[in-house]
Amino acid sequence: MKFQNPKGILSVIFVYGIILSEYYVFVFHYLPYRYSNNSGSTIFIGIEFTLIYFMIHWAYIQAQIQSPGHPSPDLAKNYQEHTLEEIKSRTKKHSEIIQKKRKQKLMKKYELAIDEEDELFDIIQAMQLDSYCFKCKNVKQPRTHHCKECNKCILRMDHHCPWVNNCIGQKNHRFFCQFIIYALLCLSQCVIFITIEMFGDTQLKGDSKFLCQMCALTSLLLCLSMGTLLGFHLYHIAKNVTTVEFHIEEMKTDNPFSKSKVIDNFKELFGSEYIHWILPLTQSESKVRIKHDSFEL
Ligand SMILES: [Zn+2]
Ligand SMILES: [Zn+2]
Repeated sequence: MKFQNPKGILSVIFVYGIILSEYYVFVFHYLPYRYSNNSGSTIFIGIEFTLIYFMIHWAYIQAQIQSPGHPSPDLAKNYQEHTLEEIKSRTKKHSEIIQKKRKQKLMKKYELAIDEEDELFDIIQAMQLDSYCFKCKNVKQPRTHHCKECNKCILRMDHHCPWVNNCIGQKNHRFFCQFIIYALLCLSQCVIFITIEMFGDTQLKGDSKFLCQMCALTSLLLCLSMGTLLGFHLYHIAKNVTTVEFHIEEMKTDNPFSKSKVIDNFKELFGSEYIHWILPLTQSESKVRIKHDSFEL
């Protein structure tokens, strides 16, 4: 439980600045004005908005401080020497295939020759087998990737997020999604309430009016970008594909990790208890089961 990269603190401060300023304008400029016209519903909105605001911070902090999940440091010791050598040679072979594919892609924009089909099959098969990280000097279970920013292997790695200053992986992907969902709930209220006010017969004047207009505009832009991001993540969680795997063309047609039911794909990340779908609570280690992991791209 720690901040992964001290340099990324600036991005986190920037995100906090945006969240705080939106909250400040909505609660201290818009709501007091609204209270003079409609006191009852304004108190309800204020309480509900503040509760969601608290949830944003809870999920955001959890996404930052919780480990995305790393392979056990002494995993390699559990393997017999000849098995470990076999895993290392297999990893080398697949790294060479991937490098070759990358070069070919650059040269002729991904036009596959017939004799490459076997190589593609090998890569898909390798995703379900253990491989070896020559940087961490440890075995990687299927779906594990080595993050260059964190310089560590990450279980079911999705991506390294500079805005969270942490890798998003098996154990904190849920918090990342919850942060976006709660942020969207707050931001969409800023857009809806203030826009209705501005297009009506508003009595808002001076600084408050200007700040509310800026708040609605920035909230709208954030809603559009974060909404797209959330849609991307939920769609791929439903398909059991990570952002890293999304770039592998073959995963779209031949995904070995997807379960028959969409709900089971969600449970793999969000947990089987629905309370964890809503609240960014930390699950006990015994309940977090890593079934799959990867090869390095
Ligand atoms: Zn590694
Ligand atoms: Zn990382």
